[in-house]
Formats: sequence, C-alpha cells, structure tokens
Amino acid sequence: MAFVADYKGAIVVEARNYGYTGSFNNPKAWCLHTPEEPPDDVPSTPYYFANTNVNASTHYFVSFLGLVFQMVPERHGAYGNAVQGKPYPNWANSAINLNLQTLSIEIEGYAATIHQTMVRGGSQWRALVNLMADRCIELRMPVERTIGHYDVSIYRSDPGALNIPLLILDVQAKIKQLTAPPPPPPPPVQEVKEMILVKTSNDNRVFAFDGATFSHIPGGAFAEAAWGHDWATKVQTIPHANKKDPRHPYGDAKLPVFYPRGSASE
Ligand SMILES: [Zn+2]
Repeated sequence: MAFVADYKGAIVVEARNYGYTGSFNNPKAWCLHTPEEPPDDVPSTPYYFANTNVNASTHYFVSFLGLVFQMVPERHGAYGNAVQGKPYPNWANSAINLNLQTLSIEIEGYAATIHQTMVRGGSQWRALVNLMADRCIELRMPVERTIGHYDVSIYRSDPGALNIPLLILDVQAKIKQLTAPPPPPPPPVQEVKEMILVKTSNDNRVFAFDGATFSHIPGGAFAEAAWGHDWATKVQTIPHANKKDPRHPYGDAKLPVFYPRGSASE
C-alpha cells in the first residue's frame, strides 16, 4: 500500500501522477466528476490513473457497487480540475491552482447518464454521501461548496445532470446524523412495587406492606385517602393474617391489594 487512506476503509490504488513540488492541498470544496467508464462491477478508473503517463488523477473514486478507492492523499493536489476558461469559485483563491484547493471524486459512470445510473439511496449514492460527510466533518469543509467539473472548465460537461443540490441535502443530513450529540441516557427504571395496605380490624390503623416491611401510615388525610375506594380494588378479611409478624399484632386484617396507578395490574 502506497499510503494510508485518509477515508477509513477506502481501497488505496496510488495514482502515478499527482502533487505539486513544495505545495500542498488545502481542501475547501468537492469537485465531482464522471470518468466515462461504464457503471458496472469493473472499477477500472483507479487502475487507469495508476498506470497512465497522462497528467491526470483524482483523490477518490466511488464505484457503481459502492466501493471507495483513494488514489491521491488529501494533502496532495490531484490533477483533476484546474480552472479552464471560467472564473474561480468565490470561495477559492484565484492565485492558487484549484487542484490545491479541492478534493476530487470520480463517480463511476458517464456524464450523460450518471443521473440515471446512480439512484438516490442506492449503493453508489450512499457510498458517495458517506464519503463526503466523513471528510467534510474531518476537514471542516462546507459541503455546500460542492461543484461539478463543468463549473470550472469550459471543456468539461461532467458529471452531467447529476442532482448536486439533492446530493448536498443528503450529505447535510448524514453530517447531522454523525455529529448529533449522543441521546441522553434513559431515566432510571422506576421499580414498581406492589404495596398492600393493611387495615387492622380492631382499631383501623393502616399499614403499608411491601412484601418485607410494614410501615405505619399515620392517621389523618393520607391514610384515609390511601384506603379509599379509588385505590383499593378488593378488600379481603383474612383472619390472623399478620399475627406472625410481631410488628403487626393486631389480629384479623382486611387486605386490599393496592396497585400504583399506571401499573399493569391496575
Ligand atoms: Zn472531470
């Protein structure tokens, strides 16, 4: 492997010709291309750039099947989209070769048909969106600056009728998804305890029993409210039910089953 991919998972096939002696790339935008190779399962463009004597290269190639190749390290200029007969985009420095201000992507297919062969949401589209979103985040590069090759060269028509505004929308959504703060942890689960209210038959004192402990509910409004019909669904008198519990030596008990509101048993 000639260099380590900047985009994790990209297949590195180093281009033969790229780079500017003493000058490095400062990417500010994407420039999109189609390489005029058939959209199929044979990604040939990376190998063309690896072997050609022509001064032509690109940073990335997204195959029809959704594989991503990297041919030029991002810190170097690819020979992809120098300005020819057009004004520089307003975000670019016109004193510097545009190849040193952009990242270029070749999208497998033809300028004439890429808008038909790369279906929105399909493998190639998603691979392109994921690549652009990842690098925009990493390089703090505004995706809104994405241009087609035809924007900067009077000699080029690629990438044809590709819907770049729609692509930008999808990349924006992906960036939002990737940079969203993690959701807050769910609130701790409140354990729903079934409480049994016990009312002694002799002196009408009310106790709450959670299965382990009896707690005396002092007399007054709360005890009366808790004991009311709104809460107790069934009241059974169980002789000597609690006599074994020394904390509750009050003889026969009426035992309503008391369910917290909203519980499954309510
Ligand atoms: Zn091009």
